[in-house]
Amino acid sequence: MNKLDTALVTSALEDAGFGFTDNVKQADVVLINTCSVRQHAEQRVLSQLGHLKHIKESRPDLVVGVIGCMAQRLGDKLLEHEVVNFVCGPTEIPQIKQLITKTLKEKKKSLAVTEKIRRKPSEQQSQALEEFESAYGIKDESIPAQAFVRVMRGCNNFCSYCVVPYVRGPEVSRRPEAIIEQIRKLADHGVKQVTLLGQTVNSYKYKKGEKTWSLADLLEAATDVEGIEWLRFVTSYPSEEFFDDIMQVMAGSPKVCEYLHMPAQSGSDKILLAMNRNYTAAGYLELLDRARAIVTGITIAGDFIVGFPGETEEDFQATVDLAEKARYKNAFIFKYSPRPGTTADKRLQDTVSAEVKQRRNVELLAVQEKISDELSRDLLGKQVQVLVEGLSKKSHVNIDRDENPQLIGRTSGDWIVVFNGPESSAGKFSQVTIESASPLTLFGRLAEL
Ligand code: SAH
Ligand code: SF4
Repeated sequence: MNKLDTALVTSALEDAGFGFTDNVKQADVVLINTCSVRQHAEQRVLSQLGHLKHIKESRPDLVVGVIGCMAQRLGDKLLEHEVVNFVCGPTEIPQIKQLITKTLKEKKKSLAVTEKIRRKPSEQQSQALEEFESAYGIKDESIPAQAFVRVMRGCNNFCSYCVVPYVRGPEVSRRPEAIIEQIRKLADHGVKQVTLLGQTVNSYKYKKGEKTWSLADLLEAATDVEGIEWLRFVTSYPSEEFFDDIMQVMAGSPKVCEYLHMPAQSGSDKILLAMNRNYTAAGYLELLDRARAIVTGITIAGDFIVGFPGETEEDFQATVDLAEKARYKNAFIFKYSPRPGTTADKRLQDTVSAEVKQRRNVELLAVQEKISDELSRDLLGKQVQVLVEGLSKKSHVNIDRDENPQLIGRTSGDWIVVFNGPESSAGKFSQVTIESASPLTLFGRLAEL
């Protein structure tokens, strides 16, 4: 979601005539896009602001803007920071050009956050967001031939640990026509893979006359867009609603990637209840069985939070048990981080010590790594299709005999594949034969065609 917001802001500023630099010393304006999901992410921003303070000592005219969830969460407190010139929440980004221009001219501090964030957005605010998204969401050059498209904003789930509903506002599904039109324009710009985004993307719902559009309908309509070869969607909430329909579309269309990211968060029913997640461990695993029955070979990924308030050794073992049964390709594991304003923070004590959180994190990671390793081995010797993202991090070190650099790509099931090939393959599909595997990365060579 943040990557998409960065792409939108970049495109809006480009349109307004701004140029870009990676070198902070050359910049007149520095924008920091922020995340509030865990405290660690916010701490990193504060330390970035600390660095900027040194630069600003010698260049007092430098404009610093903080955008994103932390901007919305902290608002005027963040604006009080000596280096910050303006603060702009995620629901206010349509103002970004004006904010920068105004600050460059007037050198005054400005605050652009939504006051009553949980209130239904006004017609004017929704329209501004929609226009911004439609105008600037039509090219995204961060990864060649790939783009994100938001299908819904906000979230109404209120998982007890989560800050998202308080910083991104209520759930609103975008109009299907606007989404499809945006995908069409992206395809015109050479985009081949579109990832549909929503906090609970599978609960996308848009009522149009007699018909209520679901994510399944949206995916089906998107597969008709010429030029789009792969469609993905993240993140799914474990819910029965539309689940089989979405899986059917995945099974029926070669364009819908066989990949499901559906976090369980915990394997203990007691903790799931305290998290205000609306399912049991058994119900969750049943959904995975259904996904695997409908889409043979589907790859599944998940998220876990360890050390949620009240999590006992037994609860944690239930999570390990779930991970073993779920057999994810990969799982993102987070240590519980109390977020101010959330119900968990207000009502529950952060009882699990930092050491225990750390130990559980390491233990669960080891369990997951073993599964990832076993699953990645199944791909040894196989030929897979990948969409090439570009040079790998070690591209300049790992050059092959034909002087091809090392590239990185992903399969439809989201496996990362590293191989040597011409740099010009970025943004194109390649066939790669897998020769070796590590838990998170596959290594291969370009297949002879
Ligand atoms: N809307 C998505 C993603 C939400 S944030 C979803 O519901 O799946 C991404 C992940 O961060 C979550 O899945 C959760 O595992 C983690 N997370 C959210 N709040 C957290 C917190 N307070 N502490 C630790 N991890 C958290
Ligand atoms: Fe947060 Fe839950 Fe909404 Fe995901 S579904 S964004 S975890 S409140």
